[in-house]
Formats: sequence, C-alpha cells, structure tokens
Amino acid sequence: MSKKIGVLAIQGAFAEHASMLRALNVEVIEIRQKAHLENIELDGIILPGGESTVMGKLLRELDMFDSLKKLINVGLPVFGTCAGLILLAKDINDSHLATMDISIKRNAYGRQLGSFQVIHDFKHIGEIPMVFIRAPYIINIGNEGEILAIVDDNIVAARQNNMLVTSFHPELTNDLSVHKYFLDMI
Ligand code: GLN
Repeated sequence: MSKKIGVLAIQGAFAEHASMLRALNVEVIEIRQKAHLENIELDGIILPGGESTVMGKLLRELDMFDSLKKLINVGLPVFGTCAGLILLAKDINDSHLATMDISIKRNAYGRQLGSFQVIHDFKHIGEIPMVFIRAPYIINIGNEGEILAIVDDNIVAARQNNMLVTSFHPELTNDLSVHKYFLDMI
C-alpha cells in the first residue's frame, strides 16, 4: 500500500511538495483543517515554505496548533522546509511548534542574497541542487540532532528522530532525493 502523506496547505508552497510526493507514488492529503489532522491516519506530514509568522498564526486561528504539535511529539514523521523549519524550531516564540532542539536565524542571508541556488553535498544522499529563498539557517543543534548539510559554514539541513528540516526548497527543483530520504524515515 502506498504511503499517505499530509502536506500542510494553509499557506505557502504546498502544491510543489504535493507534486513531488505524487511523482514518488505517494497518496497526498492536503491538510487544511483540524479534522484532517485528527481523523486521517497519516504516515508523515510536510510543513512547506511560506511565511512562518503567518503560518503559525493560522495554525492557532484554525485550532490546528495543538493537534499538530501532539502528533509530532508522539512521533509522526515531519519534514519542514524553510518556513516549516522555522515552525519546528524551539527558540522562536509562542506561535511556533518548538518540537525540535534547534536555534535558528530567520532571513539569515539578508536582502542581497534573498534567493540563490547551489549544488552541494547532503549527507547520505550526495550532491543535490539547493534553492534558498529568504532562508533561515540553523545556528545550534541539540545532542539528539544530526547535521545533514552545511553550506558556507551554516547548517542548512538536519534531522532529529522523526523530524527532518531543510533551509532550502528541494520541491523547487527536479531532484526527488530529499523527499525520498524523508519517505525512508517512515
Ligand atoms: N522568510 C520566511 C520566514 O521567515 C521563510 C521563507 C521561505 O519559506 N521561503 O518565514
């Protein structure tokens, strides 16, 4: 049976993740309300890029925040890209899920370098294209975390148990390998 993966679809670049997952023969569920989190048995969930402050606020307004946090805390595999990474970081503020022991810097590359692309090594995978858009990076990671990619001395991908995060957007390239890696975590 194919895996059933939710993509948080309240804001941001969720459609691109959905197409990547479909290309990997996964059943995709767009998660737009609390009932989707509570009534559908998911094998994993993706938190896409977008605007983390808006996404955090919407999660509260739609009353999805606590259900999502609980699912992640009990082990639901989650993949956060860019704003999704920010939502998972512990050190931001109340509107963030704070399930992962990472400290991050938002919009870390400043205005000049608002977006850029590199080809770089990703641990366990190899060289892949990485697209950064007003991206954060990870400043600190707890003992349980594994660093998966470092670009210019900054941590841009990491894993902690059931949580995978990237500062960059694999869904904006043709390379399916990070999504495949996530599916292998399940
Ligand atoms: N700069 C955005 C934020 O702080 C993240 C950008 C993105 O997801 N591409 O939430």
